[in-house]
Amino acid sequence: MKIELRDLCKTFDKKSNAINHLNIEINDGEFISLLGPSGCGKSTTMLMLAGIYKPTGGSILFDNRSVGDLEPQRRNIGMVFQSYALYPHMTVLENIAFPLKQMKVPKAERLTRAKQAAAMVRLDSFLDRKPSELSGGQQQRVALARAIVKKPSLLLLDEPLSNLDARLKIEMREEIRKLQKELGITTIMVTHDQEEAMTMADRIALMKDGELVQYASPMELYNNPNSYFVAQFIGTPPMNFLQGNIRVNGDTIDFGMQNKTIPFKNTHVLFERENQGVYLGIRPHDLKVGADGDLSFQGIVRFVEPLGHSILVSVEIENAMVRVLTNPHFTASYGENVTISTQVDSVQLFDALTGRSLK
Ligand code: ATP
Repeated sequence: MKIELRDLCKTFDKKSNAINHLNIEINDGEFISLLGPSGCGKSTTMLMLAGIYKPTGGSILFDNRSVGDLEPQRRNIGMVFQSYALYPHMTVLENIAFPLKQMKVPKAERLTRAKQAAAMVRLDSFLDRKPSELSGGQQQRVALARAIVKKPSLLLLDEPLSNLDARLKIEMREEIRKLQKELGITTIMVTHDQEEAMTMADRIALMKDGELVQYASPMELYNNPNSYFVAQFIGTPPMNFLQGNIRVNGDTIDFGMQNKTIPFKNTHVLFERENQGVYLGIRPHDLKVGADGDLSFQGIVRFVEPLGHSILVSVEIENAMVRVLTNPHFTASYGENVTISTQVDSVQLFDALTGRSLK
């Protein structure tokens, strides 16, 4: 099912908009993630999709038809909540079959369908257990099976993995993604965890203060963030930012730090910002220890974190701390002087005032 949010607004207290003119299109069978910090409006958007909250402006379309007046139970939506919301007195099978019972599906058919859904999430051998006799990951699977059993046209996942430990999260990430692709259900997942959104979603709608900041594929958000907000929100370890002032000399920027000049292609966007503040953004994996990049800085090693496949080194440059993801053979001790470098092409530049990308 294709979903469209058109100019969607929600006001609770008439003072400010919790959701402010949100426009998002989701293709049939697509998996998108609503991502953003706490309070940005993810849950409010989800509850409007589910029909629990009524929008104060704009519209929601399912396959080109407005669902404004459609009751929640008539929207054919499957939902998985953060808390799973399983019925403790029912068995796994009864929990999964429950939505079909509400739809008055005959008993034999609902048991067959519930067993099929249970098999899809590998719960076949747990059908008679109560939720309290299951692990967190198994409870999660029951919630998932219960959400898909009625073959919904839209699957809403609200922070579905936040109660699982790190290893199980990675396992369930893959399972949910695989199941979603197999079934081809249009899916919207709310999360504040950028890694979860990056690894699972076809596209990410990154929100801030009730507004959409950027809507793009994970790699597009990572490589071409449209603003400082997106750049600092996406990627682990996070992007480094150095603050500076623009001075344009022909086709280079005098960045004002360690007398570095940066050749920058779009100098025309910089002329009008002469002497204004910018943030220079460099991803930790685009930096290395050594002078062979075309932009280098001198610094002092302040912290070394071995990660196994690489080492994260924190280097202090003129009061700024920069993190470098380097190879596992790197050896340096705290307080040592090092040169770090990068290629200018991988550097991002943001207007310090508006946060907009100047790339
Ligand atoms: P979180 O990640 O913490 O769950 P969120 O992104 O889901 O946050 P929402 O819960 O949608 O954010 O809240 C968006 C804004 O709307 C917040 O400023 C919140 O305080 C406000 N809000 C949400 N629900 C209500 C309500 N029932 N009454 C008044 N204000 C509300």
